[in-house]
Amino acid sequence: MGRSFEEERQRLVEELRREGYVKSDRVAKALLKVPREEFVLPKYRRYAYLDMPLPILSGQTISAPHMCAIMCEELELREGLKVLEVGTGSGYHAALCAEIVAPRGGGGYVCSIEYFRELASFSKRNLRRAGYDDRVSVINGDGSSLLPFRDEFDRILVTAAAPKIPPKLMECLKPGGIMVIPIGTSLLQTLKVVIKENIEKYIVRERGSCCFVKLRGLEGFAD
Ligand code: SAM
Repeated sequence: MGRSFEEERQRLVEELRREGYVKSDRVAKALLKVPREEFVLPKYRRYAYLDMPLPILSGQTISAPHMCAIMCEELELREGLKVLEVGTGSGYHAALCAEIVAPRGGGGYVCSIEYFRELASFSKRNLRRAGYDDRVSVINGDGSSLLPFRDEFDRILVTAAAPKIPPKLMECLKPGGIMVIPIGTSLLQTLKVVIKENIEKYIVRERGSCCFVKLRGLEGFAD
């Protein structure tokens, strides 16, 4: 008999810990709790616990679990934080963040912006089915610019490749806040961890190469 999704989830988290992607109990717990099978297309459910990106709708992908783990660790998430995600996709990564910042509901929350309308609807359905729609709100729009926020978020997670740090996102981040963002070309990027001191001053650390789908919209890559 095949393994249950729960057993597969357990095996994946052990593997991610062994490989050094999962470092904290908080991230391990979130990966053990969020059912990735509810965020992939029905035809890919049996591949939900392979450590690889999978196609979703609109030519986009759900990120590989190890990349979600790296980004969650770099964001230093903890209960009570307000998180902005640019690139909801399936809603999986937003659910992982919500599991850490609002494990029992209340306190923290995740606001996630998705460019494609059909993905915004897809992610909302997935989040509802998996029980995260009370802690994650999804907006359909361009998350690279024109956001009506200032010093609002403790953490920003960008899950699409950007040519440079979008200035509007720096404005949305609170002083002392952390943003994780892949910066580079549309084919290859470096994962950057940006710590904002104030609007003019920020520290940037590099965390290795990565390969994300491209950021669209005003601050993204032209089609
Ligand atoms: N976080 C997602 C998940 O857990 O499934 C994976 C996201 S996928 C790698 C990147 C997403 O960014 C795509 O769904 C894409 O449509 C979205 N995206 C690209 N440009 C965007 C923009 N300017 N604003 C909002 N979302 C954008």
